Amino acid sequence: MSAEIPECVSAVRARIDAAARACGRDPAAIRLVAVSKTRPPQDVASAHEAGLTDFGENYVQEAKEKIAALRHLPLRWHFIGHLQTNKARFAVRLFDLIHTVDSVRLARELDRVAGRISKVQEVLIQVSLSGEETKSGAFPEEVPALLREAALLPHLRVCGLMTLPPYFDDPRGARPYFARLRELRDRLQQEAPQGVSLAELSMGMTGDFEAAIAEGATIVRIGTAIFGRRG
Ligand SMILES: *Cc1c(COP(=O)(O)O)cnc(C)c1O
Repeated sequence: MSAEIPECVSAVRARIDAAARACGRDPAAIRLVAVSKTRPPQDVASAHEAGLTDFGENYVQEAKEKIAALRHLPLRWHFIGHLQTNKARFAVRLFDLIHTVDSVRLARELDRVAGRISKVQEVLIQVSLSGEETKSGAFPEEVPALLREAALLPHLRVCGLMTLPPYFDDPRGARPYFARLRELRDRLQQEAPQGVSLAELSMGMTGDFEAAIAEGATIVRIGTAIFGRRG
């Protein structure tokens, strides 16, 4: 499996470039985060040798060991799973960008623990666009208040929005959600509090990243197409 990682990285890069060009965007404006959950450190090292620098993890405990094993490499780590408040202090030590802030409570806790290590933690606000209570993410109507609160927190810097649409067999199913995240961003940007940036849109996975790029994704999170199917 590992021997194929470099080929998969090239293929994914080529698809990102093609998707960006098809809609008149600069491929360099799209960051590829390789989602390495459940994968051993050697797989991350292979992807790094193939040119990748950004990796995404869903579980704090798993990431802790992997990041320690790979600390000799200049990697940027992204947290993309659901973050419990009681894990915030580990997350700020481990991750460059946390994609899944969805409550004032979590934002305040991240600010507090980042302050203790004199870090300004970069985060994205995760938005739930499906209208389901069970999904992680703030509802669109809650985002303005969350941004106002985040703007007051000195050790937190909001860089944009993230979403995880419901699963569809047909990748076209996700596209309206990507469009909605971009529209929400465009609306909020006009009144965004000072110090808050909404430049980043983290959206798109193996099954639907081309549609996400067409709708303005600046970060795509891709696991299966790089590392193969998870067991
Ligand atoms: C697992 C995961 C991904 C990657 O999914 P693939 O379909 O394997 O590309 C992206 N984003 C999040 C939030 C995930 O949990």
